[in-house]
Amino acid sequence: MARIGFIGLGNMGAPMARNLVKAGHAVAVFDLAPAAMQAVPGAAQAVSAAAAAQGAEFVFTMLPAGEHVRDAYLGAGGLAAASPAGAVLVDCSTIDVATARAVAEQGGRAFLDAPVSGGVMGAEAGTLTFMVGGDAEAFAAVEPLLLQMGRAAIHCGAAGAGQAAKACNNMMLAATMLVTCEAFVLAEKLGLSHQALFDVASRSSGQSWSLTTYCPVPGPVPGSPANRDYVPGFSASLMLKDLGLALGAARAAGVELGVGEKALEIYRRFVEEGGGGKDFSGVVGMVRQT
Ligand code: NAD
Repeated sequence: MARIGFIGLGNMGAPMARNLVKAGHAVAVFDLAPAAMQAVPGAAQAVSAAAAAQGAEFVFTMLPAGEHVRDAYLGAGGLAAASPAGAVLVDCSTIDVATARAVAEQGGRAFLDAPVSGGVMGAEAGTLTFMVGGDAEAFAAVEPLLLQMGRAAIHCGAAGAGQAAKACNNMMLAATMLVTCEAFVLAEKLGLSHQALFDVASRSSGQSWSLTTYCPVPGPVPGSPANRDYVPGFSASLMLKDLGLALGAARAAGVELGVGEKALEIYRRFVEEGGGGKDFSGVVGMVRQT
């Protein structure tokens, strides 16, 4: 049993913290929204983030964006100062690489960036994938806990490497989804059925996760969001956020990424036109109209 502080109990954090409670750990939780703390029965409700971190061996955060993470760790009364010197701090939020590195460098504690893939369903089911950057020894210490919230934890390298892996992966996902949508729309224009394209491409070199697990048109993959009017899933606004992080990192690194930039532009337009709350595969409707 470990003593754990868990801060940020939204769509993702609450089910992750519940899985740690279920695994028998002593979990102290904090969220700025007091009602969010009710979502983790069996956890101690702390009065502040610093209080949740006091005496903890591990501190997890699952917060919206980089500014919240920087503030939570390095701000006045922040987690870095409030946690015991030997604690391992683990940020599971999806944020920019630069902030992850800054918190690791300035916090004075073992700090890991550990964003996740798998969404709310994965958080509920304990099947997330963690991609982790930071010290190898700290990773080894926290790995058993990650595997109680997920089914894979990959140590990707030094501080920021977890966020870098997440940004690269989601940019690939956006691009394969968009080109899969374009292929289905082209098939429609050419009189080729969705099922026929699926049957060919899923057994050929056009195969991808976007096609075979998350097919953007209804029919071929019954479990995909296309079959439930594009209720997420993974929302287009979160995809836009992740593309912004990837392209921001690319610009900072001096790399020009034509396909990534185009994907960002298309998802930005989809969100501006009201698609932000839809699953990211719902962009097929906009592709069809253009
Ligand atoms: P959310 O908005 O549902 O939850 C965030 C929670 O953090 C809220 O309850 C909010 O009150 C709390 N919070 C904000 N600032 C705080 C602070 N300073 N101290 C304490 N609590 C604070 O967001 P979410 O969907 O749970 O996503 C969290 C992170 O996970 C994001 O970075 C997101 O990009 C990433 N992510 C989300 C998904 C998904 O499908 N939702 C999938 C993968 C990754």
